[in-house]
Amino acid sequence: MEIILTGTGSPLPDAERAGPSTLVKAGDTQILVDAGRGTVMRLTGAGTFPIFLSGVLITHLHSDHLCALNDIITTHWVMGQGNMPLNIWGPPGIQQFVDRSLDALEPDIGYRIAHHEVLTRGPNVVVTEVGPGETFDINDVSITTAATMHAPVHPTVGYRLTHDGSVAALAGDTIPCDGLDTLCTDADAYVQTVIRADIVEQTDIPMMLDILDYHSSVVDAAQTAARNGVKKLVLTHLVPAPQPADYPAWIAQAQEHFEGEVIIGPDLTSVTI
Ligand SMILES: [Zn+2]
Ligand SMILES: [Zn+2]
Repeated sequence: MEIILTGTGSPLPDAERAGPSTLVKAGDTQILVDAGRGTVMRLTGAGTFPIFLSGVLITHLHSDHLCALNDIITTHWVMGQGNMPLNIWGPPGIQQFVDRSLDALEPDIGYRIAHHEVLTRGPNVVVTEVGPGETFDINDVSITTAATMHAPVHPTVGYRLTHDGSVAALAGDTIPCDGLDTLCTDADAYVQTVIRADIVEQTDIPMMLDILDYHSSVVDAAQTAARNGVKKLVLTHLVPAPQPADYPAWIAQAQEHFEGEVIIGPDLTSVTI
C-alpha cells in the first residue's frame, strides 16, 4: 500500500497545505479518506482524479474534513460522463450531507445535462452509512471501522484498511480511546490528525484553546502508536502548520514516546508499507 497525504492542513487556511485528506493506493484500488479543502487539486498532484477512486471514506462531518466533497462529486460526474457510481462511506448523517449537496448543485447539474448530450442524469452517488465495528470490502481491500472520540462531534469513525497483509489505520480527529487502539493494533502505518498541544496551550485565543480537548496531541499519537505496536506513525492535520525547519522538533517530541518511524512533511508526502 502507498499512503499519500493529499492534505496535511487544518481548518486554518494555509497556502501550502490543503485541508485534511489522505489517498491510499492498494494495488489498483484507490481509496480517499476525508476530503478537505483543495483535495481534488492535490489528487492531481498524486497522479489521479476522482474518477479513479474506488471509494471515499469520511471520518466525521466537520467541514474541514468534507468541504471538497461537492468538488469530488461534480468532477467525478463530469469526467465519468455521468454514469459511473461514486461510492462514499461515512458515519450516519453523511447521506443527508450528500443529498443536501446534490440539492445545492441542482442548477449546475441542470445546466450540464442541458448542454451535454452524453449527460443524461445527475451524479450517481452511492452512500453507505457505517457505524463502529463494521467490516466491508472495496475490491480486495478489507476495511473495518471503530468509534473514535471527538465530542461533541458524534458520531465519528476511524478506518483500518488491510490489503495484501499490510494494515493502515486512518483515524480522523480523535483523542486516545479504545476504538482507536482497535484500529491501530499492530498496524504498519497509523495516520493521525494532530495538534502540538504544547504550542497551542501558549496562545490566549479561546477558540484555539478549545481544540485541545478533542484532538490527539503529538504525544497522544505517539503513545497510541507505541501502545499498539504500530510500525510507522504518520502525522497530518498539523496545527500549527510547521515549516520544514520545525519538523525535527515534531519528530523528537513523538520519539520521546514511540520508537518506530515518525513521518511528517508537506502535502503529497508518501509512505509505503
Ligand atoms: Zn473534527
Ligand atoms: Zn479536523
